[in-house]
Amino acid sequence: MIIKPKVRGFICTTAHPQGCAENVKEQIAYVEQHKSGKEGPKNVLVIGCSNGYGLASRITSAFGFGANTLGVMFEKEPTERRAASAGWYNTRAFEIAAQEKGLFAKSLNADAFSNEAKESVIAEIKENMGQVDLVVYSLGAPRRKDPNSGEVYSSTLKPIGEAVTRKNLNTDTRVVSDLTLEPASEEEIANTVKVMGGEDWEMWMDALAQADVLAPGVITTSYTYIGRELTWPIYGGATIGKAKEDLDRAAKAISKKLEAEKGGKAYVSVLKALVTQSSSAIPVMPLYISALYKVMKENGTHEGCIEQIFGLLDDQLYGQSELNLDDVGRIRMEDNELKDDVQQKVAEIWAQVNTENLDEITDFSGYQAEFFRLFGFGFDSVDYDADVDPVV
Ligand code: NAD
Repeated sequence: MIIKPKVRGFICTTAHPQGCAENVKEQIAYVEQHKSGKEGPKNVLVIGCSNGYGLASRITSAFGFGANTLGVMFEKEPTERRAASAGWYNTRAFEIAAQEKGLFAKSLNADAFSNEAKESVIAEIKENMGQVDLVVYSLGAPRRKDPNSGEVYSSTLKPIGEAVTRKNLNTDTRVVSDLTLEPASEEEIANTVKVMGGEDWEMWMDALAQADVLAPGVITTSYTYIGRELTWPIYGGATIGKAKEDLDRAAKAISKKLEAEKGGKAYVSVLKALVTQSSSAIPVMPLYISALYKVMKENGTHEGCIEQIFGLLDDQLYGQSELNLDDVGRIRMEDNELKDDVQQKVAEIWAQVNTENLDEITDFSGYQAEFFRLFGFGFDSVDYDADVDPVV
């Protein structure tokens, strides 16, 4: 089968197995080049392991610290006639590379919100890992089925209080125009918190604790984005921001139990904005990220998922230096993004940008290239005209 990118709105519906493997290989190479030989996690569970920040967490754990990893993902398997989703290919490539290194690496393709996924993970840990000492919670999901009531909740990306009009980029048509988002209802806010808030993270940690598969000193982290003025009305101060605030509540609750029972700790880690399948679906973010990339690449401070997560594990969670915590106790990894001069330059671009000057004053070409790489497209070493077996 010849596999080419097929973009529909903000998603690419195809993925290239060899390109995805290249993407994973590059991240492994980064970690192997930078690893410091520090003691780190030994047995790691990554919930949302197949793309973006979760995949980078798994790669860093395995290749930076020699950890065994168990992953949970929600991906489309390949058939003879249809390519798999990118996360499925990423995971296969990761597993092969980890197993070649003699590391245990297994992945469960299941709905992480379900009780069944939690039960299967616990059985797997008991059988193959004993206990886990790091749990990364990195889900980016649009909906959640409550495992007890069976009710399905959908998240909404809307402002709170009043309508917001912001410049927006349609990444498909490359048109920049004003987008007005109407405010969310109370129900929409509550539903978004139900999907993207901390409840499921707590349920995971409770289930793992009850099954006695958490090692002494266990660390758990979930990921968030906060941002500043430019994105606040549609992210930090919006429905998704409310859900993310709930992670702070959950982190406190989880920490309280972990400290008492295991001498462990839960953190919310704040990461920078970058292109992933989840962020490309958030209105306004692709334009913000295109402008941000322009500024941070010029400053020499640009980072992708693997740089951010390697820094989080190597410098922060398992580093010798003091944690870079804010007043809420979150680990801050996005200082360079939020610096006044960076935000000021992004705001200047923001004020001027339109459909005509998009390529000139932002790094939309860099955004797009990175977007296609998420699906395994755009790697020089891959022949995209060659026949490839989608089933790997
Ligand atoms: P992503 O879309 O790249 O990955 C999401 C992962 O979740 C995938 O592995 C997917 O398989 C998994 N997943 C989704 N639904 C699932 C389900 N029901 N069951 C099991 N697995 C499921 O997302 P990402 O951008 O890496 O986001 C991960 C976390 O990082 C999120 O909490 C996000 O808010 C946060 N974050 C993202 C950014 C950003 O700019 N992308 C910035 C800061 C923080």
